[in-house]
Amino acid sequence: MLYSDDDCIAISGLQHLAFCKRQWGLIHLNQEWAENYLTAQGKIMHERVDSGYQEFRRGVKQFSGLHVRNMKLGLYGRMDVLEVEQTEGPYVEIPWINLNGNWRLRPVEFKHGKPKDHNADLIQLCAQALCLEEMTGLPVNEGSIFYCELRRRTEFEFDEDIRAETIGLAKEAHQLIASGKVPEAEVNHNCKSCSLMDFCQPNIGNQKKLMDYYQELFG
Ligand code: SF4
Repeated sequence: MLYSDDDCIAISGLQHLAFCKRQWGLIHLNQEWAENYLTAQGKIMHERVDSGYQEFRRGVKQFSGLHVRNMKLGLYGRMDVLEVEQTEGPYVEIPWINLNGNWRLRPVEFKHGKPKDHNADLIQLCAQALCLEEMTGLPVNEGSIFYCELRRRTEFEFDEDIRAETIGLAKEAHQLIASGKVPEAEVNHNCKSCSLMDFCQPNIGNQKKLMDYYQELFG
């Protein structure tokens, strides 16, 4: 089955879903959004990569701000940078970016901060790779994330596990959209860096559960 353009969901949503299911619901079902210092930092940092520049240096072409999609998974998004590197591999034609030759594709994302203790950034990068594979027919096995705090790129491989997790999250996001229900809050270690803390108020949900429990116990 192929999704229609209208039914495709944003790749950035998978990143939210991997971070916290409730955060995803608040943003993508309730249209809530709030800036905190982390999201504001990210916005400023993306100004250059969103400008649509192209560069060609030492056998590597860079394209910024390209739109990608995967119709089997129902995903669309805009990449920070696509790097296209000359290789010994087979000759390919990529009319989409007007390239013929022997090329290897690599998605590159820019993130503020440093690597996190969750894999939401990698999920986003892998989703871009899955889009590129469907659009070009080429394997995309590696990608990079430039973390500003580290001031260098971290390299990733898209192994079977991360591919399966990304595909699973895409399916789950479509199911959640069909259900129309925002998942309940579960306080977790990501809450402290979550920009939606004020909308979510995860502790209120917990207090209510506690009250319901006492009510059931003592009537
Ligand atoms: S505050 Fe916590 S539970 Fe609520 S959306 Fe953010 S991460 Fe999820």
